[in-house]
Amino acid sequence: MSWETVIGLEIHVQLSTKSKLFSGGSTEFGAESNTHVDLIDMGLPGVLPVANREAFYKAIRFGLAIGAEINQTSTFDRKNYFYPDLPKGYQITQMTKPIVEKGSIKIITNNEEKVINITRAHLEEDAGKSIHDLFEGETGVDLNRAGTPLLEIVSEPEISSAKEAVAYFKAIRQLVTFLDICDGNMAEGSMRCDVNVSIKKTNESELGTRAELKNINSFKFIEKAINYEISRQIRVLENGESVVQETRLYDSEKNETRSMRSKEEANDYRYFPCPDLLPVVISDDELQEIINNLPELPEEKEKKYISEIGLEESEAKIISSSKTMANMFEQASSKTNDAKLVARWLVGDVSALLNKENIEIDESNLSAENFGKLIERISDNTISGKIAKSVLEEIWENGSDVDEIIESKGLVQIQDESLLEEIANKIIESNPEQVLAYKSGKDKLFGFFVGQVMKETQGKANPKSVNEILKKLLS
Ligand code: ADP
Ligand code: MG
Repeated sequence: MSWETVIGLEIHVQLSTKSKLFSGGSTEFGAESNTHVDLIDMGLPGVLPVANREAFYKAIRFGLAIGAEINQTSTFDRKNYFYPDLPKGYQITQMTKPIVEKGSIKIITNNEEKVINITRAHLEEDAGKSIHDLFEGETGVDLNRAGTPLLEIVSEPEISSAKEAVAYFKAIRQLVTFLDICDGNMAEGSMRCDVNVSIKKTNESELGTRAELKNINSFKFIEKAINYEISRQIRVLENGESVVQETRLYDSEKNETRSMRSKEEANDYRYFPCPDLLPVVISDDELQEIINNLPELPEEKEKKYISEIGLEESEAKIISSSKTMANMFEQASSKTNDAKLVARWLVGDVSALLNKENIEIDESNLSAENFGKLIERISDNTISGKIAKSVLEEIWENGSDVDEIIESKGLVQIQDESLLEEIANKIIESNPEQVLAYKSGKDKLFGFFVGQVMKETQGKANPKSVNEILKKLLS
């Protein structure tokens, strides 16, 4: 029997506002437990929430970027449930009238484009955190996170594989970081996702029963959890049983999903309009201002890099794929006359170093200023590309200034043609056998002579001059 996978994602994005969605408490990550907690975040009776407009502006930016409808009047509802990290006993969310509805985003898998529709993106407050591993036999509650603004982005069930789900998550992450509405830091939980998976027979129009996998926060685990779940559901169905609608937990250590609880229905939550908050109305002027200030998005950047700067498509794709890369490219390019060379180094040597350490460029010691200068020293022939590699490595280690490294290590390229000719002659004289072989047709030996001159000059000879001089002397 052949089966088809159907996936829908609910991605929770922590918006990078200074204060919380309904209080003045700080949203900063990593502070001492329970120090960023306002009376509202504690759920004390008698204190009233006030909606943070900045969170709305950020949500609207997202809506505009996915071509969605913006509800200039949106409302809040209470979703009631009990949990120790939710002191109010309800979460304030947007159930009936979310700020953003009906958008879409493009993803690319195996070089093929696909559009995934986004049902809605609504604002809600994050819960606190239950800490299970700090006290023996007891659980602590940290309310620092309580009330942090979340944008919950809900996709249509249109994703067909684990790979597509990861591509979709990455596309959302790229977008929210470019829009400057979220730092995209998955390790700190700035983006988390619930994955809904079901299976149906190919050509069957009705969707199968889904399981919801909760709170996964890495690309790797999204892919593994989905693939595990697909095989589990196929096994269940092929055994003649049926999939139960439930919430499951992914255990990354055992690489399996386990039942957590049966799926609650909307009416279990007793949703009702939050009586403490008026509808939030965004004026035409406010909306227009957000539209006017939308930053340039990856796709526009990619096009511009190709048409205006003349980058290869593959280079433009890599550079525009992350905000930190694009920033580095644009800033470093403004310091040199050779943007194409900046791109080549960024996609080549710099990316290799980043991949090796698995970091983003803004976490490295390389500043745009220093990188621009490095490229300038290559294009003005102060240093060769080969020496530049070693300079880049030194910057990578300690962030030293390019010119200081060049000067203190005496790396300036040898341009003096007569000096290079002298060295080349010496090499030719001391290798008579190779000269003979070269002249009798072993063309490949030319590289040997170039190598010897480079060795003699510790890599400082200008390779182009060396080539010309050797061609002349050996002809
Ligand atoms: P909730 O999970 O809060 O009950 P919804 O019912 O709106 O919310 O669904 C949430 C997510 O589940 C959406 O991303 C949707 O695309 C996805 N989804 C709904 N039905 C299915 C299904 N049969 N298979 C896979 N995903 C589904
Ligand atoms: Mg859900």
